[in-house]
Amino acid sequence: MTYRVPFVRPRDHYRTLKCEVDAAITDTLARGDLVLRQQLRDFEARLAEYVGVKYAVGVASGYHALHLSMLASGIGPGDEVITVAHTFVATVSAIVHCGAIPVLVDVARDHTIDVAALERAITPRTKAIVPVHLNGRACDMDAIMSIARARGLMVIEDAAQALGASFRDRMAGSIGNTGCFSFYPFKALGGIGDGGAITTDDPDLARAAMLLRFNGEDRDSGEYHYHGYTATLDNVQAAVLDVKLRRLPEWLAHRRRIAELYRQRLATLDHLTLPHFPEVSQSDSFQNYVVRSAHRDRLRAHLKEAGVETLVHWPTPLWCHHRLGLRRVRLPETEAICREVLSLPMSSETTENDVEATVEAIHTFVP
Ligand SMILES: *Cc1c(COP(=O)(O)O)cnc(C)c1O
Repeated sequence: MTYRVPFVRPRDHYRTLKCEVDAAITDTLARGDLVLRQQLRDFEARLAEYVGVKYAVGVASGYHALHLSMLASGIGPGDEVITVAHTFVATVSAIVHCGAIPVLVDVARDHTIDVAALERAITPRTKAIVPVHLNGRACDMDAIMSIARARGLMVIEDAAQALGASFRDRMAGSIGNTGCFSFYPFKALGGIGDGGAITTDDPDLARAAMLLRFNGEDRDSGEYHYHGYTATLDNVQAAVLDVKLRRLPEWLAHRRRIAELYRQRLATLDHLTLPHFPEVSQSDSFQNYVVRSAHRDRLRAHLKEAGVETLVHWPTPLWCHHRLGLRRVRLPETEAICREVLSLPMSSETTENDVEATVEAIHTFVP
């Protein structure tokens, strides 16, 4: 069905950028620059500068950013890696594909890792923590880094939803040992297909990631250092992303304005919990605008009826997908979130009219 208010507007997005994006693609193709060429190096340099780190390594997806970060960090069979159950499945799959054991803990009210639960989950086999900056909200990185330093653990930030979000004026993805980004088309910085990047200040981790993404091969010497992967960021993707990265600050400002409009127009409804939190350490990038309602499914059906498209990230806790073979856990906040969350329309093309129509439909909902 077509919605009056779609969740995202990819055709409008392309229309506003058509000249620059088309030029980036045809220029790259005309030069014959297809794999690991200048456009990729230029994008990596711009991304590293934006995030505030020394190195950015373009890879095939956000999943690969996580997996290759973990392999570069020496995570392997028998190691425990602590992360949240309330995340996209790729966070956990990357741990499993290293042969390591995902230890899933609960989230706090703001949907990011519960730091006390994280601390309780540490054992002698714990090797790393993967904080997930969900919905564009950074985790409490001061607390996480001080735990990691005290226990000698690696920190791999899942910043796939948080490019441009910050914690105490430090960008998500610049605080742990590595940061992992996704350029899946509907992320705040989206490519024209899959893509991702690893950010780090550590030259050894950056080098390992560059080898792992190209079948373990050192391109200068031809020597193989690992059984690696075919997982570089395509040169054409990099050229397009390099164009789009220049627009990211204005898109993030737009997302923050849309979020503020939702806040102003929905704050009076006591059957809704809005994603605005009192801490001043974080600056959220609003990858998603996620409200909570005890009547989520009825509210979602009501909005659909009114032509407003919403999404649920995610309705079923990961450990309940039995084929994944994850250890059964009881995580009350995660379970409540799965029942209650609803993502409202949010993108760099979401208009004030979209917000108005969405808000009006919510106001006519009878809880
Ligand atoms: C999108 C996403 C990923 C994975 O990114 P892909 O590019 O789709 O592989 C990982 N973690 C989180 C939290 C995400 O939202």
